[in-house]
Amino acid sequence: MLTVNAIAAPSATGPLGPVTITRRDVGPKDVLIQIRYAGICHSDIHTVRGEWGPVAYPLTVGHEIVGEVAEVGAEVSKHAVGDRVGVGCMVNSCRECENCQAGEEQYCLNGNIGTYASVDRDGTITQGGYSTHVVVDEDFVLKVPESIPYEAAAPLLCAGITTYSPLRHWKAGEGTRVAVVGLGGLGHMAVKLAHAMGAEVTVLSQSLRKKDDGLRLGADHYYATSDPATFTDLARRFDLIINTVSAPLDLDAYLGLPRLNGTMVNVGAPPEALPIHVFSLFGQRTSFAGSGIGGIRETQEMLDFCAEHGIASDVELISADKINEAYERVLASDVRYRFVIDVSTIG
Ligand code: NAP
Ligand code: ZN
Ligand code: ZN
Repeated sequence: MLTVNAIAAPSATGPLGPVTITRRDVGPKDVLIQIRYAGICHSDIHTVRGEWGPVAYPLTVGHEIVGEVAEVGAEVSKHAVGDRVGVGCMVNSCRECENCQAGEEQYCLNGNIGTYASVDRDGTITQGGYSTHVVVDEDFVLKVPESIPYEAAAPLLCAGITTYSPLRHWKAGEGTRVAVVGLGGLGHMAVKLAHAMGAEVTVLSQSLRKKDDGLRLGADHYYATSDPATFTDLARRFDLIINTVSAPLDLDAYLGLPRLNGTMVNVGAPPEALPIHVFSLFGQRTSFAGSGIGGIRETQEMLDFCAEHGIASDVELISADKINEAYERVLASDVRYRFVIDVSTIG
C-alpha cells in the first residue's frame, strides 16, 4: 500500500483539512496516477455534507482528476508512464451487465464504483482526487489531449461529460434551441458544448450579473429567471432544456418552455424531491428526464471533441488551503466557473 497526502472532510460539518490516506498496490491492470489538478464539483459538497445520505468519514472527495501516469501494472496496455490522463466519477463497474456491455458503465445494473464514497472491490471505501496519487483500473482512465490546458481539462471529467452526454442523447445541434439553467460549473460547460455542436443557446440564470460571461462562453441569449416575464417571453421556445441547478426549482414554470416534443433534462441533483404537476407535461407532449455523467467511451469522445473545438473549462486555480472558502463561494453561486485545486499544494 502507498500512503499519500490528501485533503479530507472529517465530518458533515467540519472544515476539510490535510490527512494521509492509503492507495492499494498497483495491480496487473492498474495505473498509478500522480495527480496534478482536481476540480471542485458541487457533488463533492453535497456528498461531504451528507446531503445525499450518510457517508463514512474522514472522506476525500474529488472526481475531476488529471495527472500523469507514474507507474503501470504488468498487464496494462492502454496507458504508459508519463501519459497525460484523467479520471472522472467512476473507477469501476461490473463490465458484464447489458449496460456495461453497451459502454454505459455509469448505468451499470450492478452499480458502478464511484471515485469516492463507494465500496471498492476489496471492501474499502474509495477516496477521491483531492490527493497526490490515485490507483485506478486502466479501463477507467481517460486520455487527456495535450492541446487542452492541463488545469482547464480537469472539470471536463465531470462537468464536461455530464453536459455532453445529454446534449448528444437529445441531439443538440444545428437548428435546435437549447436552454441551460444555471451558469455554474456544469452550466458553463453546457453552454460551450451546445454552442460548439451548433445549437442556438440560451442561458437562464438567476440574474443578469454574469450575462457578459454567458455571451462570451457561446450563448446567443441570456435571461434572468428572477424576472417573471422570462417565462412568458420564452414560452414553448426550446427543444432541450438542461437544468444544472443544485437547488430545488419550480419545475412547472420551466416545463412551460419546451416546444412540441421538447425535453427538460435534470442533471442538477438537489437532495429534495421536487413536485411536478403532470398537466405541465401534457400540453406539448413534453418529456421530463434525468441524466447521469457518461460512459467511458463517451467521456473519451467528449475530451477529443473539446480538443478539436478548442474547448476547456474556465477555471479559478486555488491552493489546497482555500478549499473551504471555495466551497462557500460555490454555495453562493460565486464561481467563475470551476475551482480547480493545484494538487502540488497538498501535503
Ligand atoms: P455549481 O457550480 O454550484 O452551479 C450551479 C448553478 O445553479 C449556480 O451557479 C447557479 O447559477 C444556479 N443556482 C444555485 N442555487 C440556485 C437556486 N437556489 N436557485 C436557482 N439557481 C441556483 O454546481 P455544479 O458543480 O455545476 O453542479 C450542479 C448540480 O449538478 C449539483 O447539484 C451537482 O451535484 C449536480 N451534478 C450532477 C451530475 C449528474 O451526473 N447528473 C454530475 C455532476 C454534478 P446562476 O448563478 O447562473 O443562477
Ligand atoms: Zn461532479
Ligand atoms: Zn455493469
